[in-house]
Amino acid sequence: MKVVIIGNNVSGTFTAQNIRLLNEEVEIEIYTQEKYPYYTRVNLPELISEKVKVDDLIVFKQDWYENKQIKLNLNSRIKKINPKNKTLELDGKDHLISYDKLVLALGSTPNIPPIKNAVKLKDEKKGVFTLRSIDDALEVKNFIHNKNIKKAIVIGGGLLGLELANQIKNSGLDTTVVEFFPRLLPRQLDLECGEMLKEEIESKGIEVVLDAATEEIIGNGSVKSIILKGGKELFADVVLIQAGIRPTIKIAHDANLRTNRGILVNEYLQTSEKDIFAVGDCIEYNNQIWGIIPACMEQSKIAAASVLGLQNVEYQGTTPKNTLKIVGLELTSVGIIDTPKEQGGGWQILKKADKKDCCYQKLVLKDGKLKGAILFGDTDAVSFVYNKLDKNVDKDELRELLRLYIYICKNCGKRYDEAVMTTLFRDLPENFKCPGCNAPKEDFKKKE
Ligand SMILES: Cc1cc2nc3c(=O)[nH]c(=O)nc-3n(C[C@H](O)[C@H](O)[C@H](O)COP(=O)(O)OP(=O)(O)OC[C@H]3O[C@@H](n4cnc5c(N)ncnc54)[C@H](O)[C@@H]3O)c2cc1C
Repeated sequence: MKVVIIGNNVSGTFTAQNIRLLNEEVEIEIYTQEKYPYYTRVNLPELISEKVKVDDLIVFKQDWYENKQIKLNLNSRIKKINPKNKTLELDGKDHLISYDKLVLALGSTPNIPPIKNAVKLKDEKKGVFTLRSIDDALEVKNFIHNKNIKKAIVIGGGLLGLELANQIKNSGLDTTVVEFFPRLLPRQLDLECGEMLKEEIESKGIEVVLDAATEEIIGNGSVKSIILKGGKELFADVVLIQAGIRPTIKIAHDANLRTNRGILVNEYLQTSEKDIFAVGDCIEYNNQIWGIIPACMEQSKIAAASVLGLQNVEYQGTTPKNTLKIVGLELTSVGIIDTPKEQGGGWQILKKADKKDCCYQKLVLKDGKLKGAILFGDTDAVSFVYNKLDKNVDKDELRELLRLYIYICKNCGKRYDEAVMTTLFRDLPENFKCPGCNAPKEDFKKKE
């Protein structure tokens, strides 16, 4: 049996590896349009700031593929899939590639919001960039160095936008992040923690503009500024757009596979064609697309089993786990980070907001099970959260974990429970009075 995989990043590579782990006989071939073997995209911003080199990003070199008897074809773009006769057409070549089973690990490309001039200035290489590949990062780096660029705008205050802004700032540029939503990391943080993060980002010398829809990029020979809705103009020599992803679906769609935002798959990661499977950033399952490495890894195991006809594991979706990678800033967001009102009762939140020490920890529970968390500033609880996700947790254990206490008024027994209050007891003003009996703050004792 011959398995062909299109795409050689985390999804394609790990699907190939997992197939090989399960079966030593099948022929495996990978085609990728990129010129590098599997590399990580995680550190691409550091390639711009020259903290890492291209070689540092390569995860598996050519010999890894040879040892596993996986044939890797670099610089090979598949232009057409013919599901009827199970062949593929390669760009610039006449011969057809045949397959018995096909895996689409096509990934995604950066989303460019409808901003006037954005695509034009990007295509003309006049100072508008997106970041997805090693080549993109090298292009940005060269542009910044060769053109003596002083000021950058990053459109998009999500994880990748902030990590990019941080490295651009490290490259010595005045840097501004422009975010459409009224807070940073709109998908990973609530408003309160978003505000704390904004302060921390600003303390690094990065300007943050929220609630700002970019309408136009101004520039003729080169970028000059951006115009926000309402008319405000922000000046910059380079604009980097990091505003989400678009799953790559065109060749699947052209081959009449069912697609929507992504390539539609069932719980075995099988597309609407029975011998074609899809995995990673390019898929849509249960109306969801993921765009994160843990999902690619999980899916690649299931896709490998399905390709070999071992349909014994069903994909259940992957809980989002995100960590912001900025030195000196600890932030992890996992799963559900707010109580969804429409889902009714049973939801509970345990929260510790320590604005003085810039720490914010929030745990979200449903019917006693841990469903998600935001950990900012103090991320000691990360491994606990990962281990206990979707499991029953003991409330007292959680209090201990977050170092949240209950204080009791010795006169009237009134409780001050830090887990449900917005201010820690120690941060209450000295003239705080017991709401039950008006006793002074010192009459409260910590419950042991
Ligand atoms: C800057 C950056 C930082 C990131 N940081 C994190 C992080 O910290 N944590 C995290 O979980 N995720 C992170 N991600 C996201 C993560 O990199 C992606 O989820 C992951 O790369 C998806 O892997 P994939 O194999 O599905 O797709 P991709 O990585 O997009 O790879 C698909 C490959 O297929 C190739 N291809 C597509 N069509 C064809 C064709 N027709 N013929 C041949 N080849 C084709 C593409 O060129 C590409 O090389 C980051 C992404 C970026 C860009």
